[in-house]
Amino acid sequence: MTYPNATPEGEAPDRRIWIDGTLVPWPEARVHVLSHSHARGSLVFDYLSVHETDRGPVVFRVDDHVARFLTSAELVGLPLALGAAELRQAVLEAVRANPGAKVVKLNAFIPSVEIDVVPVDDRVSVAVAAFDPRLDVIAAKGGVPAPFPTAVRIWLEKERRQRRPDIMHPHAKVAANYTSPMVAKWRARRNGYDEILLVDDAGFLAEGPTTNFFLVDEDGVLHTPPEDSVLLGITRRSILEIAKHDGVGFVEEPLRPEALFGASEAFLTGTSAGVWPIRSVDDRPIGIETPGPVSAALGRRFREVTAGRVPDFAHWLTPVGG
Ligand code: PMP
Repeated sequence: MTYPNATPEGEAPDRRIWIDGTLVPWPEARVHVLSHSHARGSLVFDYLSVHETDRGPVVFRVDDHVARFLTSAELVGLPLALGAAELRQAVLEAVRANPGAKVVKLNAFIPSVEIDVVPVDDRVSVAVAAFDPRLDVIAAKGGVPAPFPTAVRIWLEKERRQRRPDIMHPHAKVAANYTSPMVAKWRARRNGYDEILLVDDAGFLAEGPTTNFFLVDEDGVLHTPPEDSVLLGITRRSILEIAKHDGVGFVEEPLRPEALFGASEAFLTGTSAGVWPIRSVDDRPIGIETPGPVSAALGRRFREVTAGRVPDFAHWLTPVGG
């Protein structure tokens, strides 16, 4: 069976995906079109980064990502058979089996074909894919992997709010949580913006579809929305811990959109983006230069940490061994 509009055949022929304990060739890693995960958006996931260091490839904060993945599964009610230690091993094994991998996508899903929202067969599969998104996916499709724009042009979303905890908790990385921001970001992209920023139900700044948000005030202090309204980004937490270590002040507090326009600097954080300086919001420039000095320094510091060059944060890096 081939899929004319979605041909994985050209992608990552040499990659293998860890599925329930077996390394499966990439093109064979498929689920049924009527699977529960596909039909209901019930797939839970996490996304980790792999970095080259003097100690060889390392996974960034693997235990924190695995813990967040378990929280997501719990919030969605997926009965996972694997625990933290087994998931951690699976991540390291998938990276070892796929040299040159830059990221790891950890997935839990119900592969069973189901009719109702509640599955009859609720067995959960785990799939761990370690790969290079630019080479294995974008370039393999014939696309040109564009670098991240160095400074992002943001649209402050006006129609769609970020996740409401009484619908699906913002702490859950579940596929269904990404459809609403997808609609908004797609529209913003067509209008020439790189990324969107969403507000929460009460109108406070929350986060981007796959990034957390910070602003920097005129005293160089960081401000970021509180934990209850956003996904608990591992990069967000890392930036706060680095700030504390380096003596940079920070506050976690509800922020009104107006705060953006008085900010000296603003940036997004995420596993793919790292520290991603914001150039403008709704075409209004933020600060004087992009990146501003605080964003630039934190971005540099974060890259040093992930490259294994900061001994105080070496414990965030797990060598994959092999
Ligand atoms: N918010 C949302 C909604 C996300 O999906 C992500 C990506 N995981 C982030 C923030 C950033 O989190 P992290 O730094 O762990 O990549």
